[in-house]
Amino acid sequence: CGIVGYIGYREAYPIVIKGLKRLEYRGYDSAGIMLYEGNELKVSKTKGKVSDLEEKSKELASLKATIGMGHTRWATHGVPNDVNSHPHLSNSGKLAIIHNGIIENYEPLKKELIKRGYSFQSDTDTEVLVNLIEEVQKKENLKLGKAVQVALNQVVGAYAICVFDVQKPDEIVVARLGSPLAIGVGKDEFFIASDASPFIEYTSNAIYLEDEEMAIVRLNKGLKIRKIKDDTLVDPYIQELQMNLEQ
Ligand code: GLU
Repeated sequence: CGIVGYIGYREAYPIVIKGLKRLEYRGYDSAGIMLYEGNELKVSKTKGKVSDLEEKSKELASLKATIGMGHTRWATHGVPNDVNSHPHLSNSGKLAIIHNGIIENYEPLKKELIKRGYSFQSDTDTEVLVNLIEEVQKKENLKLGKAVQVALNQVVGAYAICVFDVQKPDEIVVARLGSPLAIGVGKDEFFIASDASPFIEYTSNAIYLEDEEMAIVRLNKGLKIRKIKDDTLVDPYIQELQMNLEQ
């Protein structure tokens, strides 16, 4: 299972697909991609290999989107099929999430959301999280980053997540607890991935998020890292990667 994200000025599709292939060693049963283009989210996902996803995503391949995220899934809640694959969208269609890990308390959260009128297409714990974020965002009138933070404080489990909001298309919110997450810091661009292999050819500057940290990466504004629990700001520790680029 793996995650890849990109926000910058390059075409996102090839970066995400190539990145997912580099993460294939982690094992997975399904793959998916989301691109943001023309004020819309374009999603393609499938059970199977990244090569099956490419086969299914020919329309997306020609888009000039410069924001995207991709996922390889190792199913924990809900069988491996197209619908359960990530990304998952919120009920409004405005939020998209990719997630590695497990939301252990998804059942009570899901029940509560259903009571409040939410519906679910998949059997995943992840679709519960993206709708919880949406509910928090609406109820408390919060910006995306804050809403993610409040939602994560209600969650028990493990995660590496990337969340994108069409209403705030200059940023991606990421967070981790238990599952790994690295941020590649380029000039006017950011990469997000489970390890540095998807972005090592573009930048040698990487931040490895610690457990219980979240980051908002914002185009032209840099990034802010906070502790999820107590909201403390964390100074980004940027590592210089030393890897050979022969692959
Ligand atoms: N628990 C999530 C699911 O089953 C994410 C699994 C993963 O780590 O890929 O969809």
